[in-house]
Amino acid sequence: MTLASLRRQLLAGDTTSAAILHHLAGEIAARDSLTGAYLSYDLEAALAEAALADLTLPLGGIPIAIKDNINVLGQPCTCGSKILAENYRSPYDATVIRKLRAAGAIPFGRMNQDEFAMGSATENSALQTTRNPRDPERIPGGSSGGPAAAVADATAIAALGSDTGGSVRQPASHCGVVGLKPSYGRVSRYGLVAFASSLDQIGPLTQTVEDAALVLQAIAGFDPLDSTCLDVPVPDYLAGLHHGVHGLKLGVPKEYFGTGIDPGVRKNVESAIQKLAAQGAEIVGISLPHTEHAVATYYVIAPAEASSNLSRFDGIRYGHRTAKPADILDLYKKSRDEGFGPEVKRRIILGTYVLSSGYYDAFYGRAQKVRTLIRRDFEAAFQQVDAVLSPVAPTPARKIGAFANDPLHEYLSDIFTLSANLAGIPGISVPCGTTHFDGATNLPVGLQILGPHLCEAKLLQIAQAVEV
Ligand code: GLN
Repeated sequence: MTLASLRRQLLAGDTTSAAILHHLAGEIAARDSLTGAYLSYDLEAALAEAALADLTLPLGGIPIAIKDNINVLGQPCTCGSKILAENYRSPYDATVIRKLRAAGAIPFGRMNQDEFAMGSATENSALQTTRNPRDPERIPGGSSGGPAAAVADATAIAALGSDTGGSVRQPASHCGVVGLKPSYGRVSRYGLVAFASSLDQIGPLTQTVEDAALVLQAIAGFDPLDSTCLDVPVPDYLAGLHHGVHGLKLGVPKEYFGTGIDPGVRKNVESAIQKLAAQGAEIVGISLPHTEHAVATYYVIAPAEASSNLSRFDGIRYGHRTAKPADILDLYKKSRDEGFGPEVKRRIILGTYVLSSGYYDAFYGRAQKVRTLIRRDFEAAFQQVDAVLSPVAPTPARKIGAFANDPLHEYLSDIFTLSANLAGIPGISVPCGTTHFDGATNLPVGLQILGPHLCEAKLLQIAQAVEV
């Protein structure tokens, strides 16, 4: 049930939007107790929208699952956190939701995630465990683990996630689905609960590259409510999808194939590269020399921005409020202490530290400079090549709990995805085979394709050639 095929069936009158919703509700009832991708869903509300759906619109009548940090009017928006789980209901639609509705789609389902999108395994959700449908002993990746697991498990047709340092691409890779992080400014962030505002982007998780193009088409474009959203035309993402890779120059950065990569990941990524070469792409060895600094840079900048963004959760306006505060300061402290989980607290402490006077220049200021160097690495690379190919993650999905109490190990595993956010460029993860790993067989591996700013169409075109 891809989005594209359902669309044809809907237009031909072979199915209805309500039938699709009932089918999904059945699939969720059958399997989601094991996968744990859905935090909640409102079938009645979705059916009411389905009854009014205009099937002639590009996504007419099609349900799309939504990560639980994107506001949908009247629905919960927990961000995977206790602080918002008790009583918060969204008072408005995020711009991406408004755009999805304008394209005829129906937001259906609130999907689990790491708390405030901080993590790479969905183990930091304060609300429930999400399992990888390919192997329930294993993580689905994160932080958009719920969206990825549901699409892989066919309990959702397509989903929206958010990607601050890899949170769409990495779970897509671990679950064997397609995940696209658009260029910074391509998609409005209005109504996405902010984690690190200079890095966050909303992107689709889908079964196919074509479906990713369809969803991006609907959500991309200018929004006066987000000052960082670009006022530039949105191209037709389907037009060049099948143009192939003949004559394209594709760069393979040596820094992304060093030690620490699982041999099965390397083998699958290398065969995908061979496949593109066989279709006429020219493969070029390149260097992105500042790659080794990406983890340190990101884990200064992202917590710094998070510490500022999360200061709004103070027990006053929304979210959890402590029961018997001694005074106003005690109310802030206890509400936050009771509401936030350990990883969020760690990031707030780290972020506050790197921004504090005396340390600002040494950490935050320095990280901003290295960020510029990382962006320049890509600018130089794109003088030579049309796109860059790499693994998404060093290993396939690990076992749940394997990195417990080892956040540094977890941070290091983000090495291949963080740079795209720091540079503001688009990236896609497309399935490129399966491998055995750590006692398991058939674990999915993703190929990452990175391109110049606003070149999503090119990424989709290359990804399509991998998928075929
Ligand atoms: N894993 C990274 C982090 O923990 C990225 C998360 C994301 O993209 N939201 O910050």
